[in-house]
Amino acid sequence: MSDQNPVFIPGPTNIPDRLRSAMQVQTRDHRAPDFVETFAPVLEDTKRVFGTTSGTVITFPASGTGGWEAAICNTLSPGDKVLVARYGMFSHRWIDLCQRHGLDVHVIECPWGAGAPADKFEAVLTEDKARDIKAVLVTHNETATGVKSDIAAVRAAMDAASHPAMMFVDCVSSLASMEFCMDDWGVDIAVSGSQKGFMLTTGMAILGVSPKALAAMETATLPRTFFDFSDMMAANASGGFPYTPPLQLIYGMRESLKMLFEEGLESVYARHFRLAEGVRRAVDGWGMKLVAESPALYSDTVSAIYVPDGFDSNALTDQAFNAYGVSFGIGLGEMNGKAFRIGHLGSLTDVMVLSGLATIEMAMADLDYPVELGSGVAAAQDYFRSHRAALVKTAA
Ligand SMILES: *Cc1c(COP(=O)(O)O)cnc(C)c1O
Repeated sequence: MSDQNPVFIPGPTNIPDRLRSAMQVQTRDHRAPDFVETFAPVLEDTKRVFGTTSGTVITFPASGTGGWEAAICNTLSPGDKVLVARYGMFSHRWIDLCQRHGLDVHVIECPWGAGAPADKFEAVLTEDKARDIKAVLVTHNETATGVKSDIAAVRAAMDAASHPAMMFVDCVSSLASMEFCMDDWGVDIAVSGSQKGFMLTTGMAILGVSPKALAAMETATLPRTFFDFSDMMAANASGGFPYTPPLQLIYGMRESLKMLFEEGLESVYARHFRLAEGVRRAVDGWGMKLVAESPALYSDTVSAIYVPDGFDSNALTDQAFNAYGVSFGIGLGEMNGKAFRIGHLGSLTDVMVLSGLATIEMAMADLDYPVELGSGVAAAQDYFRSHRAALVKTAA
């Protein structure tokens, strides 16, 4: 497969040349003074992306899954009750992780395509008179279904029930691409990773942790060593790391933050909305349907799209890969065979998105889909022409 073609999977995302260069650094001593100068500002600047001033940014050499585990094992004890809704593969996997850690997981089952059910959370929390529920877990952007949940509404539900539980949010596929307001939404732990909105290689779990979550560490008894927040924070306080840091990723992260701030976070979010909207117009043009149940739930980073009855979405993504060398997201879990996904996050322009839409149309035509070549592309072109992008000028 040619690496001249972008990927349209919802992570890991395309790595811009500027970030590949930034990560091309020779081994350096992480105990030398210049590591401190590099690392401390990265932690500080990442707070802006989370939307927090009171929180602490903590990173681990891990993927997002490690971030889920870190959130749980630092703040909870075996048998603690947590409340979570299952509406896709990622919320499902977080539930599984909690169960394997011996937590008492109260699961609300939702259709795949729905978002976090704030009203049902409120009812369960109101019923929990003994205040046994210690945390509410929410996947902000369910990457399997292309659904964005309303975190402010979940916070409002918790407040309406006057419930003291912490709120943990998975923002792996939304942070640095869609607006995230950790402080305003009262998020206690936000979990993200390096390989999606930050446009880097996989390998760093990135967390925002509130003072309330830090206080919970004092009584939390789940075992933790590698993921211990206190070891990490003690070392970070002097600019260091409790073990060997992923040095190249930290250099990459420093440059990624520069790129995001140069473009401006508001512009980054606006670009993701525009790209997503172009894709949604194309889906309309094809006469297909999104998995997300309603427009308020549409994700700006990934669209999951049902293929017509009688077609297999895996055959479509295989055809795009085998015939044209372009990767699209397959349908995960319940969506396998029924829906494919277009990832539209990270380092992408209108022009790149048009190339993806044109490619998947060719694959559809090859497989005799009832879709006219150009129908989706034209709809996206119309949208992009009438919502012209501000061109991002990037420093060399
Ligand atoms: C990608 C992703 C993760 C993390 O997966 P890893 O493969 O462990 O990095 C978690 N949650 C969501 C919503 C994701 O999209």
